[in-house]
Amino acid sequence: MQVFRTIEEMRAFSLKTRASQNTLALVPTMGALHAGHISLVELAASLADNVVVSIYVNPTQFAANEDFDSYPRPLEADIAKCETAGAQAVFCPSHTEMYAPDHSTYVEETRLSLPLCGLSRPSHFRGVTTVVMKLFNIVTPHSAVFGRKDAQQARVIMRMVRDMNCPVEIHLAPTVRESDGLALSSRNVHLSADERSKALAIPAALNDAKARITRGITDIEEIKAAMHSVLAGAAPQLEIDYMEILSSHNLEPVSELSGELLIALAARVGKTRLIDNIEVSLA
Ligand code: AMP
Repeated sequence: MQVFRTIEEMRAFSLKTRASQNTLALVPTMGALHAGHISLVELAASLADNVVVSIYVNPTQFAANEDFDSYPRPLEADIAKCETAGAQAVFCPSHTEMYAPDHSTYVEETRLSLPLCGLSRPSHFRGVTTVVMKLFNIVTPHSAVFGRKDAQQARVIMRMVRDMNCPVEIHLAPTVRESDGLALSSRNVHLSADERSKALAIPAALNDAKARITRGITDIEEIKAAMHSVLAGAAPQLEIDYMEILSSHNLEPVSELSGELLIALAARVGKTRLIDNIEVSLA
Protein backbone atom coordinates (compact mmCIF):
# COMPACT_ATOMS: atom_id res chain seq x y z
CA MET A 1 0.00 0.00 0.00
CA GLN A 2 1.23 3.49 -0.83
CA VAL A 3 0.98 6.57 1.40
CA PHE A 4 0.72 9.97 -0.26
CA ARG A 5 1.13 13.27 1.57
CA THR A 6 1.08 15.57 -1.45
CA ILE A 7 -1.59 16.31 -4.04
CA GLU A 8 0.94 15.79 -6.81
CA GLU A 9 1.76 12.22 -5.68
CA MET A 10 -1.94 11.42 -5.19
CA ARG A 11 -2.79 12.72 -8.67
CA ALA A 12 0.00 10.71 -10.27
CA PHE A 13 -1.42 7.51 -8.70
CA SER A 14 -4.95 8.32 -9.88
CA LEU A 15 -3.79 9.15 -13.40
CA LYS A 16 -1.84 5.89 -13.61
CA THR A 17 -4.80 3.88 -12.28
CA ARG A 18 -7.19 5.43 -14.76
CA ALA A 19 -4.71 5.12 -17.65
CA SER A 20 -4.50 1.38 -17.00
CA GLN A 21 -8.33 1.13 -17.20
CA ASN A 22 -8.64 0.36 -13.48
CA THR A 23 -11.42 1.84 -11.37
CA LEU A 24 -10.87 3.88 -8.23
CA ALA A 25 -13.05 4.18 -5.12
CA LEU A 26 -12.48 6.83 -2.46
CA VAL A 27 -13.30 6.52 1.25
CA PRO A 28 -13.02 9.97 2.86
CA THR A 29 -12.31 9.87 6.64
CA MET A 30 -10.91 11.98 9.42
CA GLY A 31 -8.94 9.02 10.77
CA ALA A 32 -9.06 7.38 14.21
CA LEU A 33 -10.31 4.46 12.19
CA HIS A 34 -12.67 1.87 13.65
CA ALA A 35 -14.67 -1.06 12.32
CA GLY A 36 -17.23 1.35 10.81
CA HIS A 37 -14.57 2.95 8.60
CA ILE A 38 -13.16 -0.47 7.74
CA SER A 39 -16.59 -1.63 6.54
CA LEU A 40 -16.55 1.33 4.13
CA VAL A 41 -13.11 0.32 2.84
CA GLU A 42 -14.36 -3.24 2.32
CA LEU A 43 -17.42 -2.01 0.42
CA ALA A 44 -15.15 0.23 -1.68
CA ALA A 45 -12.92 -2.78 -2.47
CA SER A 46 -15.97 -4.64 -3.77
CA LEU A 47 -16.79 -1.70 -6.08
CA ALA A 48 -13.43 -0.83 -7.60
CA ASP A 49 -10.00 -2.20 -8.52
CA ASN A 50 -8.21 0.31 -6.29
CA VAL A 51 -9.28 1.91 -3.01
CA VAL A 52 -7.92 5.23 -1.73
CA VAL A 53 -8.63 6.14 1.90
CA SER A 54 -8.20 9.82 2.71
CA ILE A 55 -7.29 10.63 6.30
CA TYR A 56 -7.64 14.32 6.97
CA VAL A 57 -9.07 16.22 9.94
CA ASN A 58 -10.60 19.04 7.95
CA PRO A 59 -10.40 22.37 9.80
CA THR A 60 -13.12 24.10 7.75
CA GLN A 61 -15.84 21.80 9.10
CA PHE A 62 -15.09 22.67 12.74
CA ALA A 63 -16.23 25.92 14.37
CA ALA A 64 -13.82 27.76 16.67
CA ASN A 65 -15.44 26.32 19.83
CA GLU A 66 -15.45 22.70 18.59
CA ASP A 67 -13.13 19.73 19.12
CA PHE A 68 -10.69 20.20 16.20
CA ASP A 69 -7.62 20.27 18.50
CA SER A 70 -8.66 17.29 20.61
CA TYR A 71 -9.85 15.15 17.67
CA PRO A 72 -7.86 11.85 17.89
CA ARG A 73 -5.08 11.47 15.27
CA PRO A 74 -3.43 8.00 15.52
CA LEU A 75 -2.05 8.25 11.95
CA GLU A 76 0.44 5.36 11.97
CA ALA A 77 -2.14 2.91 13.40
CA ASP A 78 -4.70 4.18 10.84
CA ILE A 79 -2.31 3.57 7.94
CA ALA A 80 -1.73 -0.01 9.16
CA LYS A 81 -5.51 -0.58 9.40
CA CYS A 82 -6.02 0.65 5.81
CA GLU A 83 -3.38 -1.77 4.57
CA THR A 84 -4.98 -4.70 6.44
CA ALA A 85 -8.41 -3.73 5.07
CA GLY A 86 -7.09 -3.96 1.51
CA ALA A 87 -6.67 -0.31 0.45
CA GLN A 88 -4.11 0.43 -2.27
CA ALA A 89 -3.37 3.97 -1.09
CA VAL A 90 -3.80 6.40 1.80
CA PHE A 91 -3.93 10.13 1.14
CA CYS A 92 -3.02 12.06 4.30
CA PRO A 93 -2.19 15.63 3.34
CA SER A 94 -1.12 18.45 5.67
CA HIS A 95 -3.28 21.56 6.11
CA THR A 96 -0.82 23.64 4.08
CA GLU A 97 -1.13 21.10 1.27
CA MET A 98 -4.95 21.26 1.34
CA TYR A 99 -5.63 24.95 1.96
CA ALA A 100 -3.69 27.92 0.59
CA PRO A 101 -3.27 30.65 3.24
CA ASP A 102 -5.62 32.85 1.19
CA HIS A 103 -8.11 30.06 0.33
CA SER A 104 -11.38 31.81 -0.47
CA THR A 105 -13.62 29.38 -2.38
CA TYR A 106 -16.28 27.21 -0.74
CA VAL A 107 -18.93 24.75 -1.91
CA GLU A 108 -22.23 25.25 -0.15
CA GLU A 109 -25.39 23.12 -0.23
CA THR A 110 -28.18 25.41 0.90
CA ARG A 111 -31.16 23.24 1.79
CA LEU A 112 -30.43 19.83 3.36
CA SER A 113 -27.58 21.44 5.35
CA LEU A 114 -29.94 23.66 7.32
CA PRO A 115 -31.85 21.45 9.82
CA LEU A 116 -30.49 19.01 12.44
CA CYS A 117 -26.69 19.44 12.78
CA GLY A 118 -26.89 22.59 10.62
CA LEU A 119 -28.72 24.41 13.43
CA SER A 120 -26.01 23.98 16.05
CA ARG A 121 -23.11 23.77 13.55
CA PRO A 122 -24.00 26.41 10.91
CA SER A 123 -20.72 26.28 8.95
CA HIS A 124 -20.13 22.53 9.32
CA PHE A 125 -21.59 21.22 6.06
CA ARG A 126 -19.98 24.01 4.02
CA GLY A 127 -16.66 22.67 5.31
CA VAL A 128 -17.67 19.08 4.50
CA THR A 129 -18.85 19.80 0.95
CA THR A 130 -15.79 21.95 0.28
CA VAL A 131 -13.31 19.29 1.39
CA VAL A 132 -15.21 16.46 -0.33
CA MET A 133 -15.26 18.42 -3.61
CA LYS A 134 -11.52 19.06 -3.21
CA LEU A 135 -10.91 15.34 -2.56
CA PHE A 136 -13.02 14.41 -5.61
CA ASN A 137 -10.94 16.81 -7.74
CA ILE A 138 -7.63 15.52 -6.35
CA VAL A 139 -8.35 11.77 -6.32
CA THR A 140 -10.80 11.70 -9.29
CA PRO A 141 -12.51 8.51 -8.04
CA HIS A 142 -15.17 6.65 -10.03
CA SER A 143 -17.05 6.03 -6.78
CA ALA A 144 -16.98 7.14 -3.15
CA VAL A 145 -18.32 5.48 -0.02
CA PHE A 146 -19.93 7.25 2.95
CA GLY A 147 -21.59 5.92 6.10
CA ARG A 148 -25.29 6.05 6.95
CA LYS A 149 -24.17 6.90 10.50
CA ASP A 150 -23.80 10.50 9.24
CA ALA A 151 -27.21 10.48 7.56
CA GLN A 152 -27.46 14.22 6.94
CA GLN A 153 -23.89 14.39 5.60
CA ALA A 154 -24.66 11.54 3.18
CA ARG A 155 -27.73 13.36 1.86
CA VAL A 156 -25.90 16.69 1.56
CA ILE A 157 -23.10 15.03 -0.43
CA MET A 158 -25.51 13.18 -2.72
CA ARG A 159 -27.29 16.50 -3.36
CA MET A 160 -23.96 18.23 -4.10
CA VAL A 161 -22.99 15.45 -6.52
CA ARG A 162 -26.34 15.74 -8.29
CA ASP A 163 -26.39 19.54 -8.40
CA MET A 164 -22.75 19.99 -9.43
CA ASN A 165 -22.71 17.01 -11.85
CA CYS A 166 -19.77 15.36 -10.10
CA PRO A 167 -18.81 12.22 -12.07
CA VAL A 168 -18.66 10.14 -8.89
CA GLU A 169 -21.06 7.34 -7.92
CA ILE A 170 -21.98 7.58 -4.24
CA HIS A 171 -22.50 4.42 -2.17
CA LEU A 172 -23.76 4.34 1.42
CA ALA A 173 -22.76 1.73 4.00
CA PRO A 174 -24.82 0.71 7.05
CA THR A 175 -23.91 1.91 10.55
CA VAL A 176 -21.59 -0.43 12.42
CA ARG A 177 -22.38 -0.74 16.14
CA GLU A 178 -20.84 -2.21 19.27
CA SER A 179 -22.59 -5.38 20.45
CA ASP A 180 -24.56 -3.27 22.98
CA GLY A 181 -25.89 -0.98 20.22
CA LEU A 182 -23.64 2.09 20.54
CA ALA A 183 -22.71 3.35 17.07
CA LEU A 184 -18.95 3.29 16.52
CA SER A 185 -17.52 6.80 16.43
CA SER A 186 -14.00 8.21 16.60
CA ARG A 187 -15.32 10.44 19.40
CA ASN A 188 -16.29 7.47 21.63
CA VAL A 189 -12.70 7.41 22.97
CA HIS A 190 -13.52 10.63 24.85
CA LEU A 191 -16.34 8.96 26.85
CA SER A 192 -15.70 7.90 30.45
CA ALA A 193 -17.10 4.48 31.46
CA ASP A 194 -20.10 6.18 33.07
CA GLU A 195 -20.71 8.43 30.02
CA ARG A 196 -20.43 5.45 27.71
CA SER A 197 -23.14 3.59 29.61
CA LYS A 198 -25.33 6.72 29.55
CA ALA A 199 -24.72 7.05 25.78
CA LEU A 200 -26.52 3.72 25.29
CA ALA A 201 -29.76 5.66 25.82
CA ILE A 202 -29.24 7.08 22.28
CA PRO A 203 -29.62 3.78 20.35
CA ALA A 204 -32.20 2.67 22.93
CA ALA A 205 -34.39 5.73 22.20
CA LEU A 206 -34.02 5.23 18.43
CA ASN A 207 -34.91 1.54 18.68
CA ASP A 208 -37.85 2.35 20.95
CA ALA A 209 -39.20 4.80 18.34
CA LYS A 210 -38.70 2.34 15.49
CA ALA A 211 -40.46 -0.42 17.47
CA ARG A 212 -43.44 1.84 18.20
CA ILE A 213 -43.74 2.92 14.55
CA THR A 214 -43.46 -0.68 13.35
CA ARG A 215 -46.16 -1.70 15.85
CA GLY A 216 -48.48 0.78 14.14
CA ILE A 217 -48.41 3.73 16.55
CA THR A 218 -49.10 6.82 14.45
CA ASP A 219 -49.00 9.64 17.03
CA ILE A 220 -45.63 11.36 16.44
CA GLU A 221 -45.80 13.28 19.73
CA GLU A 222 -46.40 10.06 21.66
CA ILE A 223 -43.37 8.46 19.99
CA LYS A 224 -41.19 11.49 20.72
CA ALA A 225 -42.38 11.60 24.35
CA ALA A 226 -41.36 7.95 24.76
CA MET A 227 -37.92 8.75 23.27
CA HIS A 228 -37.61 11.66 25.71
CA SER A 229 -38.30 9.41 28.66
CA VAL A 230 -35.67 6.87 27.55
CA LEU A 231 -33.13 9.72 27.22
CA ALA A 232 -34.21 11.33 30.50
CA GLY A 233 -32.98 8.18 32.26
CA ALA A 234 -29.43 9.18 31.25
CA ALA A 235 -29.69 12.81 32.42
CA PRO A 236 -27.92 14.94 33.55
CA GLN A 237 -24.87 13.54 31.67
CA LEU A 238 -26.90 13.33 28.44
CA GLU A 239 -28.29 16.55 26.98
CA ILE A 240 -30.40 16.39 23.79
CA ASP A 241 -29.39 18.64 20.88
CA TYR A 242 -32.13 17.41 18.52
CA MET A 243 -34.48 14.48 18.17
CA GLU A 244 -36.50 14.45 14.96
CA ILE A 245 -38.67 12.20 12.80
CA LEU A 246 -38.15 13.28 9.20
CA SER A 247 -38.69 12.35 5.61
CA SER A 248 -35.61 10.35 4.71
CA HIS A 249 -35.47 12.01 1.27
CA ASN A 250 -35.65 15.73 2.01
CA LEU A 251 -35.04 15.85 5.80
CA GLU A 252 -38.29 17.73 6.35
CA PRO A 253 -40.39 16.95 9.44
CA VAL A 254 -43.35 14.68 8.67
CA SER A 255 -46.90 15.23 9.86
CA GLU A 256 -47.85 11.60 9.32
CA LEU A 257 -45.85 8.41 9.40
CA SER A 258 -45.49 6.89 5.95
CA GLY A 259 -42.86 6.12 3.34
CA GLU A 260 -39.15 6.32 4.11
CA LEU A 261 -38.49 7.90 7.51
CA LEU A 262 -35.32 8.96 9.27
CA ILE A 263 -35.25 9.23 13.05
CA ALA A 264 -32.25 11.39 13.88
CA LEU A 265 -30.78 12.17 17.27
CA ALA A 266 -27.86 14.27 18.50
CA ALA A 267 -26.90 14.59 22.14
CA ARG A 268 -24.04 15.80 24.22
CA VAL A 269 -22.80 13.16 26.65
CA GLY A 270 -20.56 15.04 29.03
CA LYS A 271 -18.43 17.11 26.67
CA THR A 272 -18.77 14.71 23.73
CA ARG A 273 -21.37 15.33 21.03
CA LEU A 274 -22.72 12.10 19.54
CA ILE A 275 -25.08 11.61 16.60
CA ASP A 276 -27.02 8.55 15.56
CA ASN A 277 -30.07 7.68 13.48
CA ILE A 278 -32.29 4.84 12.41
CA GLU A 279 -34.22 4.43 9.18
CA VAL A 280 -37.78 3.10 9.03
CA SER A 281 -39.46 2.06 5.82
CA LEU A 282 -43.28 1.94 5.85
CA ALA A 283 -45.25 0.60 2.90
P1 AMP B 1 -15.39 10.38 9.95
O1 AMP B 1 -13.99 9.86 10.02
O2 AMP B 1 -16.10 10.39 11.26
O3 AMP B 1 -15.49 11.68 9.18
O4 AMP B 1 -16.19 9.33 9.09
C1 AMP B 1 -15.75 8.92 7.82
C2 AMP B 1 -16.81 8.07 7.18
O5 AMP B 1 -17.06 6.93 8.01
C3 AMP B 1 -18.14 8.81 7.03
O6 AMP B 1 -18.71 8.48 5.76
C4 AMP B 1 -18.96 8.25 8.16
O7 AMP B 1 -20.35 8.27 7.91
C5 AMP B 1 -18.45 6.82 8.24
N1 AMP B 1 -18.69 6.24 9.57
C6 AMP B 1 -18.39 6.78 10.78
N2 AMP B 1 -18.82 5.97 11.78
C7 AMP B 1 -19.42 4.90 11.18
C8 AMP B 1 -20.07 3.72 11.66
N3 AMP B 1 -20.20 3.47 12.97
N4 AMP B 1 -20.56 2.85 10.75
C9 AMP B 1 -20.43 3.08 9.41
N5 AMP B 1 -19.83 4.17 8.90
C10 AMP B 1 -19.33 5.07 9.76
